[in-house]
Amino acid sequence: MGVDMQAVLANPRGFCAGVVRAIEIVEQALVLYGAPIYVLHQIVHNQRVIHDLEVRGVVFTEQMQSIPSGAVTVLSAHGVSDAVMEAAHRQGLEVIDATCPLVTKVHLQAQRYSKEGYEVVIIGHRGHVEVEGTYGRVRGAVQVVGSVEDVATLQVADPRRVAYVTQTTLSLDDTRAIVEAMKQRFPDVRGPELSDICYATQNRQNAVRTLAAKVDVILVVGARNSSNSARLREVGEMSGVSAYLIQDADEISPDWFVRSSRIGVTAGASTPEVLVRGVLDRLQELGVSQIEEIEGVSEAITFRLPAALLRRQRSA
Ligand code: SF4
Repeated sequence: MGVDMQAVLANPRGFCAGVVRAIEIVEQALVLYGAPIYVLHQIVHNQRVIHDLEVRGVVFTEQMQSIPSGAVTVLSAHGVSDAVMEAAHRQGLEVIDATCPLVTKVHLQAQRYSKEGYEVVIIGHRGHVEVEGTYGRVRGAVQVVGSVEDVATLQVADPRRVAYVTQTTLSLDDTRAIVEAMKQRFPDVRGPELSDICYATQNRQNAVRTLAAKVDVILVVGARNSSNSARLREVGEMSGVSAYLIQDADEISPDWFVRSSRIGVTAGASTPEVLVRGVLDRLQELGVSQIEEIEGVSEAITFRLPAALLRRQRSA
């Protein structure tokens, strides 16, 4: 262990407006409709959040068919395909959509490109729920690329009619390289005016870069299936420090700090602050004597609850 160990907290970190809204939607649904409330997929990718809601009567499932007809069902912040939405209505579910408005914006953009006759390329991670949802919102030709190499092997009907959108939680560096490769291969390619990478992802990645310049090692608190948390760890490593993704304080290994006196801490957009506090407590047990928080941009952004829920609130 280093001497005079210090913890430095990134700012901003943790919950974004989309996650705050999604959790608020489930909590409000519990109040307004009573338990059980069903949620298709994990509302946000964090086990602590899921567990806290489960004990209050929320049932999380990946199998929509298992939800009883008529049940109040919240769709997760990551968004769903048209097929899932239609199946939910066919099954008679009372749907409350917690899709983050910034994900919906990407859906609409992809649909616009498709209607204008463009083949849509989604830059993102194959198999991630957000990408699956966006993919399933496009009626025309659509493909997913996850790397510069994937761009080289893309097969398109007309190279002059290609457009791209991106997953909201990628790393800025990865997207830049893939967008560049798309432009090289398809000089007429269309894409969004501004990156689809959301403000929260961008701010948290910038904060990790600032943090990396001040510390020897970075701990990113986040679930293993949290895409934006995984990207924060990568950004830390790419900035030249060792970086570890941990779900909570129990996963900390003291060996990581043998030659470190300054330990950086941040958290993904779906990580509750209570887990960060737990990590700081553990670091203090391991010898950290001082905790400093870096100044960062303040995030005033909030999203309105879905109209259906607001109507129900008014009539309650
Ligand atoms: S990370 Fe961005 S896109 Fe995802 S829920 Fe949060 S604000 Fe929305």
